Amino acid sequence: MEKIILSEKDPRFKNEVASKPGAESFMRCFTCGTCTASCPVAEVHDEYDPRRIIRMTVLGMREEVLSSDIIWMCSRCYTCHALCPQNVKFTDVISILREMAIKEGYVPKERYDKARELDRKIQELRCMIIDNKLHPDKKQTDDIKAILEKELDEEWA
Ligand code: SF4
Ligand code: SF4
Repeated sequence: MEKIILSEKDPRFKNEVASKPGAESFMRCFTCGTCTASCPVAEVHDEYDPRRIIRMTVLGMREEVLSSDIIWMCSRCYTCHALCPQNVKFTDVISILREMAIKEGYVPKERYDKARELDRKIQELRCMIIDNKLHPDKKQTDDIKAILEKELDEEWA
């Protein structure tokens, strides 16, 4: 594992994040791991770990966090937000990190807009798949496949 040299990191980063509405309590995190254990994205993506993102932010790893593809993986489902014993609102924290990544030039704004749109489509697809399982008579399988194929063909900034 790569050694972290704290003197090379940005000590202001955590305070900048904590100063934004929604992130006030994020430094209360005591790394219990409830968020990671309950996260549907972490379940399918080995590298995704909300607890780790918080830790890296607290340690001042500004560049590593803001330039990482990982901050775009969260589906903003609010599960961790609801279960955190320390009232860390990770869903708000991830939005703040994404906004900072755009403002600081790590990613184009179009990516944020596309990520929001993709979140909406994923939730729509999730509902359709569940509905399709519960009501196979509605025959939604072809519609679901068409939406998926269209989305897979689309390029992302
Ligand atoms: S559930 Fe809350 S306290 Fe526990 S690791 Fe996640 S953010 Fe930190
Ligand atoms: S809001 Fe993001 S980090 Fe939290 S449980 Fe949902 S997908 Fe995981």
